Amino acid sequence: MRDLKAERILERLRESGGRVTSARRLIVEAMLAGGDHHLTAADIVEIVRRDDPVFHESTVYRTLERLTELGIVRPVQLVPGATVFHLVENAHRHNHLVCDDCGTIIEARVDLLDVLASDVARNHRFTLQTEAAPLHGRCEACQHADAASNRAADPAP
Ligand SMILES: [Zn+2]
Ligand SMILES: [Zn+2]
Repeated sequence: MRDLKAERILERLRESGGRVTSARRLIVEAMLAGGDHHLTAADIVEIVRRDDPVFHESTVYRTLERLTELGIVRPVQLVPGATVFHLVENAHRHNHLVCDDCGTIIEARVDLLDVLASDVARNHRFTLQTEAAPLHGRCEACQHADAASNRAADPAP
């Protein structure tokens, strides 16, 4: 399943005129393996080094740059100061819900903001880049953790 997905992405890489090098394959696989598919360059270095402890950091950065040019990955800045990379999949455009407490990124339907965007277009003649805008808030786990600590802090009746 996972390999098929990697093959599909590498096929697209070939179609856009790129060569499938072992570094590129490794990085695409690392990104698919990563839990939420949104990884910083440092995360990717860490993952590829599990397989290849001497893998050069500069190779990761260079490869990510090239994969970005080829339209295979896209850097997105979801929180100030940290750029994460995600795989560009046309069939799977998404918005990002970002938890401000733990940094979890959740992918949400891309049409989520369509109503808002058309409202803004109508009222402000402004084209909203809905896909680029992270939506900040708190994830379910952090809400639960908060509720639990509030309960613990409450004096018993
Ligand atoms: Zn994403
Ligand atoms: Zn959270």
